Amino acid sequence: MENEFKRKSLNDINSIIARAINGEKVECPKCGCTLIFNDVNSGKHPGIFCPNNDFRIMMDFKKNDIGK
Ligand SMILES: [Zn+2]
Repeated sequence: MENEFKRKSLNDINSIIARAINGEKVECPKCGCTLIFNDVNSGKHPGIFCPNNDFRIMMDFKKNDIGK
């Protein structure tokens, strides 16, 4: 059930997350703007956001253990 969202474009989402965590510049797949990455230490909910609000990935580092 929790993978219902991921199932659509799992590879793309994982690729975006992986590159953002590595500090790379990642472009929004919808509009091409550089995505904003809030890491777990940012004080905000961890996630990747488009400044145009047309794309976002909310992350739960504790659950998914992304970036190990
Ligand atoms: Zn966008």
